[in-house]
Amino acid sequence: MNIAIKRKPLSLWEKIYVPEILRGMVITAKHLFKNLVSPEKMMTHSWPDEHKPIPENYRCEHRLMLRDHGAIRCTACMLCATACPSNCIHITAAEGENPAAEKYAEEYTIDHLRCIYCGFCVEACPCDAIRMDTQRPVSSGFSREFFIRDINYLKNNHGTKAPYSEARYP
Ligand code: SF4
Ligand code: SF4
Repeated sequence: MNIAIKRKPLSLWEKIYVPEILRGMVITAKHLFKNLVSPEKMMTHSWPDEHKPIPENYRCEHRLMLRDHGAIRCTACMLCATACPSNCIHITAAEGENPAAEKYAEEYTIDHLRCIYCGFCVEACPCDAIRMDTQRPVSSGFSREFFIRDINYLKNNHGTKAPYSEARYP
């Protein structure tokens, strides 16, 4: 069904056009000078030279936390893989040298092409072994293999953050 939109008829002043064009140019010049005088108040960022700050709680790429002596914090309990709705976490568990001690993850892979960055894995982890606070948003790449993050990548993906000392649990 067609609906006729009633538009306000143009006044004589608007029909001349030139005053309206000048008015538009004044507004543009006003914004230009405002941005030149105080660039820190600009609403835009000069990407890629200037990166927009990412909030601390923004869910970015994963990282695997380490214990103080450098061993991986993950105990291969599989809770994250079970909670993952995309089925993109794959873990291979191994026994530690001490048979009385807990297991550890020998292989830990996340397929970032399938990941929906929901954060369920972080929530499910009982020992704060995985976090998404790297402030590294999803990268771009040229092959599917690039997005398969293995244990070595995840263990070293800490950016400027400490890999162990800031752990929430000992
Ligand atoms: S963020 Fe969500 S989809 Fe991605 S690995 Fe964790 S649980 Fe799976
Ligand atoms: S990252 Fe956490 S939840 Fe996932 S297997 Fe390791 S200890 Fe378990």
